[in-house]
Amino acid sequence: MSVKKLKGKVAVVTGASKGIGASIAKHLAAEGASVVVNYATSRSGADEVVKEISQAGGTAIAVQADVAKRAEVERLFQETKKAFGRLDVLVNNAGIYEFAPLESVTEEHFHKQFNVNVLGPVLATQAAVKQFDGAGGSIINISSLVSTMGIPQASVYSGTKGAVDSITRSLAKELAPRGIRVNAINPGMVETEGTHTTGIAASDMRKQIEAQTPLGRIGQPQDIASLATFLASADSGWITGETFVVAGGFR
Ligand code: NAP
Repeated sequence: MSVKKLKGKVAVVTGASKGIGASIAKHLAAEGASVVVNYATSRSGADEVVKEISQAGGTAIAVQADVAKRAEVERLFQETKKAFGRLDVLVNNAGIYEFAPLESVTEEHFHKQFNVNVLGPVLATQAAVKQFDGAGGSIINISSLVSTMGIPQASVYSGTKGAVDSITRSLAKELAPRGIRVNAINPGMVETEGTHTTGIAASDMRKQIEAQTPLGRIGQPQDIASLATFLASADSGWITGETFVVAGGFR
């Protein structure tokens, strides 16, 4: 029997009630980590993820917190400490995407996305770093292929992910002396609740992307979760400050 790679470790996954975050939470738990399944509003989704993890023999709890609000983020990490007593891994996955042509961009459109996608990971990282002990930690930011591959009508969303890439590289150097690694995963289009409700997963854009993707399909959440598990584990112990495109070869 193989040894579980994250045995005894504790992980917080933001936005884990559905989509990519839910899959990452399940994969980390399957490798032995105790997982905090964060969500903003979908309590039933988060409870379902916790149930699936428990039924598979793992350990998880659901904790509500809006990552864009400092007090709620602090409560998320207090609850983590109370439940599991330590912290080793933070996955900054919670994110929103809204597409808009330049003329439709509003201050609200801008601040909403920057608050969740950029301020959220900064606040969560600040709180997490206080809880990592001498063993260090691993932070995984879920960025996007759009940060490097310009696509039309996504200026603000792409901007949030460009910021995530830069923050990843900066904090990797700042936190390395404390044994904390910071990396980003930049997925191409992935089939999730979010890409379904926004209509992206059933759009002409999906067909165009599939036609131009060497591996011939869009991603599934587990395509991202397997890399997140590697980056969370000691197997990636000499990797920090990197951004990994996971997109079936689409660039
Ligand atoms: P999704 O299906 O829409 O799920 C989003 C998750 O984030 C939900 O669990 C949601 O919680 C949570 N969330 C949203 N706002 C939050 C907030 N303020 N505080 C805490 N949690 C919050 O999204 P997804 O498609 O899996 O995307 C996940 C991440 O991957 C995002 O960062 C996204 O930008 C990135 N990404 C996605 C794709 C793609 O094609 N799907 C591609 C590249 C990058 P509630 O359900 O409670 O609202």
